[in-house]
Amino acid sequence: MASLKDIIALPNKHLRQRSGKVGIVTDEVKGLVKDMEDATLDWEDSRNHEIGVALAAIQLDKPFKVVVIRNDFDNKDDRTFSVFINPEVTKYEGEVVEDFEGCLSVPDIYGQVPRYNKVRVKAQDLNGKQIRVTAEGFLARVFQHEIDHTKGIVFVDHIKDKPEAFFRLKADGKLESLDYEKDVKSNPILW
Ligand SMILES: [Zn+2]
Repeated sequence: MASLKDIIALPNKHLRQRSGKVGIVTDEVKGLVKDMEDATLDWEDSRNHEIGVALAAIQLDKPFKVVVIRNDFDNKDDRTFSVFINPEVTKYEGEVVEDFEGCLSVPDIYGQVPRYNKVRVKAQDLNGKQIRVTAEGFLARVFQHEIDHTKGIVFVDHIKDKPEAFFRLKADGKLESLDYEKDVKSNPILW
């Protein structure tokens, strides 16, 4: 069973590699999905103030376009996920809004990242069936973050020139601003 130890984090360069398309949804792919769900929940169980919202396969060092997203962001007791194989944003809609975002592969750092607040997504489900989703609000943000992972983009890459956008999660669950020059720009872990 996969655990939080299987999650790779920056500065691992694999996080900036593009993932490949999944052809047929084999038992191996289904096993990978199970590992992704288990690792996300194990990570969540190790954190006091965070929810494991979603994961992309590359975060387990598997370069495939597979994403799992929690079905209920507001209820930690709901430990179920939806699975998206080869997900793609087909349309960006609404407006660009900035909000806080974190990542299981970027421990303790949060950023205010601009994202569209509505996107249309096309993907396949675990049966290989084509699905289309219109996502709004936080779910739209999650899709953009996870689909970025399949392209080798980490959320910090969107805000690397924004000194005000970086925060650290403190032990008490509150966010504090980071010193951009010291903790961000010249932090060899991030870049
Ligand atoms: Zn992430």
